[in-house]
Amino acid sequence: MNEEQDLIPVLSYARISDDGEGDRHGVTDQHRVNQGTAKRFRLNIVAELTDNDRSASKAEVVREDFERMVRVLRTGKLEDGRLVQGVIVLNDDRLARRAGDYERFVEALTCKEGRVYADERGLKDLYSEDVEGLGLVGVAFSKIESRKTRRRIRRWHLARAIDGKSPGGTRPFGWRADDRTKLHPVESALLGRAVDEFLAGRSGHSIVVSWQKLGILTTLGNVWSAQAFKLMLNNPRLCGWRRLGGQILRDEDANPIIGNWEPITTPEKWLAIHAIIEGRKGKDRFDQPLATDYRDHKYLLTGIARCGKPRPDSLICNARLTVDQSRRGARHHVYVCPPKTNNGCGGIGRRGDLVDQFVTEAVLAKLSEREMTADEPADLGTTSEIANHEKMLMTLRQQWTARVISDGFFFTTVQQVELQLKDLRNIEARQSLQKARGHLDLAAIRERWYTGELDLSQKRAYIREALHAVIIHPGGRGRAIFNPDLLELVWR
Ligand SMILES: [Zn+2]
Repeated sequence: MNEEQDLIPVLSYARISDDGEGDRHGVTDQHRVNQGTAKRFRLNIVAELTDNDRSASKAEVVREDFERMVRVLRTGKLEDGRLVQGVIVLNDDRLARRAGDYERFVEALTCKEGRVYADERGLKDLYSEDVEGLGLVGVAFSKIESRKTRRRIRRWHLARAIDGKSPGGTRPFGWRADDRTKLHPVESALLGRAVDEFLAGRSGHSIVVSWQKLGILTTLGNVWSAQAFKLMLNNPRLCGWRRLGGQILRDEDANPIIGNWEPITTPEKWLAIHAIIEGRKGKDRFDQPLATDYRDHKYLLTGIARCGKPRPDSLICNARLTVDQSRRGARHHVYVCPPKTNNGCGGIGRRGDLVDQFVTEAVLAKLSEREMTADEPADLGTTSEIANHEKMLMTLRQQWTARVISDGFFFTTVQQVELQLKDLRNIEARQSLQKARGHLDLAAIRERWYTGELDLSQKRAYIREALHAVIIHPGGRGRAIFNPDLLELVWR
């Protein structure tokens, strides 16, 4: 009995892309790899089909053998009547050139039960909605992204992401070089602490400076920059999630796909960090969940303290106070209203050390008062709302790819849903930030404040979280007198 009769008859499909020299596999090579795949999974290649995209322009090219493959799969037979029950390709990229191709292929292959599909990495179940759904999204991505090499890298990343493997490329800071799924003991500890400090309001710049002082380098051996640091913090890898094309990868139920590496932090904390970083892009800092400094200040209240001297029109001056630089080297600093040439009135001065101390105590008292009364509303609603919107988007994409809905309807609806999603995500991030902050131990903060463990940017973050501003009202003679009654604290 012919041994081949026991094997499942399949097609081997190959395509030369027009990537030119970037194409690692020629046609012969692709079919040879497919032969190897056939052997591994007890498949029998009954025909080799090949398309050549190299000579033709992209949109018009008719891929004769691709069309033939789809026809054969629909009937289940080659033209000469031999059975066909599956397909082997080098990888997905060989199939999908245009949105719709991949979908037509899956449709044809799964129109009968028991078909097999395999690529270099193994057998794939195209009957499962998961794989199909992700395939469609993948194709939608590739339609948007026109640069082919990038697309190919993404496809590879996507495939890795779907099975939760760590992406390739430069070793991520925080994970071991030999096994990127395991935490690097030193780096992960540093990164974990940085995450908490950033959430507590320490500026990224301040953390980077402390790393520089410690001699901590990037995995490429470079000195850390604020930019590189921000990119690292904004990467969902920190909490075990994957991002592709700017989106968190999610499964059919809109749950994030969890990677197979050990996370540095929790999704709640990462979402909070992400919200802070995204929130800063071109927006007023005043509205941010936790107002933190872009740059390091030398004094506790610069930019927060304002001038309360009345102007002739009876409004107050309200200029941001600066520190009197002529008094550098003196025992204490003095907050002053800048001169008229600098949008101030020049009419206020106050002893900085005493103002700082008073405001610090007031803020610490206020924070503990808040903690006592903190009663967080449970917000399970937002998360399920987000999941619903994610599902909606997924369905829209599928229907659009299947040409059930028009371009016009798709794009306007998608835009609306995406805007709603964005709002929901902001709400969710704020909620998780509040949750993270609700658990702060204020006694510990007070202690760290006075032992000097908190640096100035951390202290300023607490101040800004509690206060909109400190207005310093004029008090008769003497520029630098101090009287707490002349300080007006504007609480948030
Ligand atoms: Zn003034």
